[in-house]
Order: sequence, then C-alpha cells, then structure tokens
Amino acid sequence: MENINLKDIIADSGFRFNKSLGQNFISDKNLLDAIVADSGVTGDDVVVEIGTGGGTLTRAIAAVAKRVVSFEVDENLQSVLALSLKGVDNAEVVFRDVMKMSDDAIRRFVDGKFKVVANLPYYITTPLVMRFLESGLDVESLTVMVQQEVADRFVAKPNTPDYAAITLAIRMCGEAVVTRRVNRNMFYPVPNVDSAVVRIDVDRKKLENENLPLIRKLVRSAFAMRRKTLANNLSAAFGIDKQTAADRLKAAGFEPMVRGEVLSLDDYIRLSYQFR
Ligand code: SAM
Repeated sequence: MENINLKDIIADSGFRFNKSLGQNFISDKNLLDAIVADSGVTGDDVVVEIGTGGGTLTRAIAAVAKRVVSFEVDENLQSVLALSLKGVDNAEVVFRDVMKMSDDAIRRFVDGKFKVVANLPYYITTPLVMRFLESGLDVESLTVMVQQEVADRFVAKPNTPDYAAITLAIRMCGEAVVTRRVNRNMFYPVPNVDSAVVRIDVDRKKLENENLPLIRKLVRSAFAMRRKTLANNLSAAFGIDKQTAADRLKAAGFEPMVRGEVLSLDDYIRLSYQFR
C-alpha cells in the first residue's frame, strides 16, 4: 500500500487539531508498520482501533488484517479520512465515543474475537485499557501506544517505584511487554512526553479465577495508602481490626508489617484465600 502525505491532507482539508482529545498523529510509515508487526496481527484477525485520527495507523493495520473497525470521537476528521482512507475497503470508521459504548454496542460492529491496536488518546489511557481488558468482550490482545511513564507502570516489577495498582490490574488479565520506545518527535503535533508501545496478551484463565473480585479489592485497598502497611490498609478496607489483618497475612506466609507494594500477583492470589 502506498504511503500518504498526512500533513498535506490535513492542510488541504482545513482540519484543526483538538488538543483536549489527545490528537497527536503518526505519519512515519516505518513506525506504523512496526506497531502492526508488534501486535502480531495477521490476515485472520479482526482489529479494533481506538482513535482513528488521520487514519494512518488504520491503513497500516488494514494492509495486514482481515478487517478493521476504528472508533473516533471527532467528526471533524471526516474530510481528512475521506482522503486518507480512500481505496481501503476493509476498514470501517465509526464516529462514536468508545468510552460511552456498552459491550453490546461494540458487538454490533465486531462480533466475536478481536485484537485492539491503537495509538491511544493519553488523557484516558488507563480507563480505555481497563474498559477493554475487564469487559465481557472477546479481546485477545491490546497493542497500544501510551506515554512512557504509563508503559513503565504497566510492566513494573514488585517493590519498585513504578509498581502500582494498575500493574496488578493488568497482570490479572494477562501478560504485558513493552515492545518499543518511541521518541516524541515521531508525532504530529509533537507532544511533551515520550511514548512506548505495550502489548498485553489476554489470558482468559486468569479472568476466570473465582476469587477475582476479591483479589481486585485486595489490590485496590493495598495501594489506597501506599505508605501504610498492608495490615493497616486491609483493616480499613475490610472493616476488620489490625490484629485480624496481621493474623491473616501471617497465615498466608507474610510478615505482619509487610507493605502492599512488595507482593506479586501470586502473593495476592494466595492472600485472597484468607479473606473468603
Ligand atoms: N490513530 C491515529 C494515529 O496514530 O495517528 C490517531 C491517534 S491520536 C493519539 C488519538 C485519537 O483518539 C484522536 O484522533 C482523538 O480524537 C481520538 N479520541 C479521543 N478520545 C476518544 C474517544 N473517547 N473515543 C474515540 N476516539 C477518541
């Protein structure tokens, strides 16, 4: 598929960027192809893109995938997309706010399993990722461009400053890897942060763990006040006294003064059996 000149198309169409929608577009063909390669998408895959923007990534995905459904909130992009997606017959752009769509509304466009590939709007990165990961939709993987510090949090190891509730929330659904770091100068207009591509492979078995709601509550409460001990946070969240919380920690093999940030997902799973 031939390259398109996004800057010319935008200039010709009179489109004005809306900063509050996180509109930082990519036009570099090598980077676009690299994101698609990182996603592992093949001709058998249906792909959901979040944020069509100028349609450059949509084109790169469509060149490889069976079909692309791309959601975009900004209808002002219609004239840009009419030009940039000309001749691409396996991509459909849906002008909707994806955060306001129910699972059933999304299923009307993609029924069955799909992969997400997106250069995400950074003002709602985490809610968007969690919306797809924790939904009832059949998502196989998400390959997403996010800001670098968010990527570091997604893949952090226990007992490091980046390790957070979101690290564990993602690990409860699958495995995340950073596939590449991307300099801010690769975007147009240039944002004030560097970025990274993260791929999250969804593991259905993890999502079927019967203790999942309890594990989620344990993790949320463990990081509610990071400086407090886990026993303190658990006592507040579960309405039990500190000694009971400490006893349950001990029964699961942890020191009573342990902090939530040193426990791995397997540790939280083990602890959940003391709270059933
Ligand atoms: N995919 C394009 C690219 O890589 O050049 C655009 C990426 S840009 C970082 C993010 C896009 O998401 C913007 O076009 C923005 O208008 C759109 N967007 C923001 N919030 C959205 C929402 N809630 N639902 C759908 N699209 C949204």
